[in-house]
Amino acid sequence: MTSQQYIDLEDRHGAHNYHPLPVVLSEGRGVYLYDVGGRQYFDFLSAYSAVNQGHCHPRIVRALSEQSSRLTLTSRAFYNDRLGPYEKYLTEYFHFDKVLPMNTGAEAVETAIKICRKWGYEVKGIPHDRARIIVCGQNFHGRTTTIISFSSDPNAKGNFGPYTPGFESVPYGDLDALRSKVSEDPATIAGVLVEPIQGEAGVFVPEDGYIPGVAAACRENNILFVADEIQTGVGRTGALLRVCGDCTCAGHCERQPTYTRPDVLILGKALSGGTYPVSAVLADDAVMNVIRPGQHGSTFGGNPVACAVAMEALEVVRDEKLTQNARRLGRLFRERMQELVDRHPETLRLVRGKGLLNALVINDSPEGDTAWNLCLALAERGLLAKPTHGNIIRFAPPLVISEAELMEACDIIQEAIAHLAADHVGSEAEKVDRG
Ligand SMILES: *Cc1c(COP(=O)(O)O)cnc(C)c1O
Repeated sequence: MTSQQYIDLEDRHGAHNYHPLPVVLSEGRGVYLYDVGGRQYFDFLSAYSAVNQGHCHPRIVRALSEQSSRLTLTSRAFYNDRLGPYEKYLTEYFHFDKVLPMNTGAEAVETAIKICRKWGYEVKGIPHDRARIIVCGQNFHGRTTTIISFSSDPNAKGNFGPYTPGFESVPYGDLDALRSKVSEDPATIAGVLVEPIQGEAGVFVPEDGYIPGVAAACRENNILFVADEIQTGVGRTGALLRVCGDCTCAGHCERQPTYTRPDVLILGKALSGGTYPVSAVLADDAVMNVIRPGQHGSTFGGNPVACAVAMEALEVVRDEKLTQNARRLGRLFRERMQELVDRHPETLRLVRGKGLLNALVINDSPEGDTAWNLCLALAERGLLAKPTHGNIIRFAPPLVISEAELMEACDIIQEAIAHLAADHVGSEAEKVDRG
């Protein structure tokens, strides 16, 4: 079958809830993806930072295959020999008392919201049904009905109402706005839900003091600080978690000074290295113990395959020092991109990011097609990336990328931009000619 035939099949038989780049992939290895014609591409999306450990990492694939030939699912109606060891491992890795295992990111966010509300009533003493959770503008926390209820994206939200009440939004990165919101009526606020970097919104990195400031405002008012690290966690930003700030220990430390500890930590995506849907909510006993038997769950949550895969995926992050690699190569990447921004100010506005979660902002409106065309030009040259919000391109390769590979990828980006800029100059010249 040709690429076009695969695309037509999806178009005819699948819901049109995505708008993919026209490339049909059939294999992946490390930082590379291969299309059905055998063409090789650098993967600079990593499935939205799920594939931090690289495609089909042999150790993770082996864990998946060994466990799936032994025992795949028991449900939580019974104990199994993988869940306990995984829970011990995960809670020690991230320094929390307990974990509640789920599958997708959105489910983990839902779980965190439920824990937060229940804690609000049973521990904090918020009056019945009055608990509020503060969220941020331009957030992305998933696609369920409750989560899109507090989205500010009309596309994510439109015509899916009526919406779940109990959420209020403040501008992201604005500590004063958060402080003043919290001080209005702290007694009815159960939690503040924040992404330490807003990935989907276009890789918005708040000022250094923002996350510690949010945590402090929560602490002072007996409010849970809930960190959604589904995209930023597991080494992506050059620290094990983004809330670790600039701590380089990769999770070996006992709470370094830069570490801002969330009360509730949400993980997903790279927790499994992209092989399997695995998500988790972590908290200490004082919070997690509000959940008792029958009050929350999932048939697949914490299944033996998920446990085996996630443990191996986290071992890989440690053994291959992916956090440190993301930090070092992230700097080099932004340096290279900054040179391009300086050289092509008519095409590029800026580069920003942390570790290997970066974005290039294109000098075009969100409705313009420059970013899309650049992504097509990149694909033609062997690099896959996708625009977010029209004029922003996120660059997030697997963290196993080497310096030589990164430099080669930067050359591809440089060439595609030069090509686009030449077109731009060409069309400007044409305008001048015609004018
Ligand atoms: C991807 C993502 C989610 C949702 O995860 P799914 O697995 O797609 O449900 C939630 N929060 C953040 C920050 C994400 O990046």
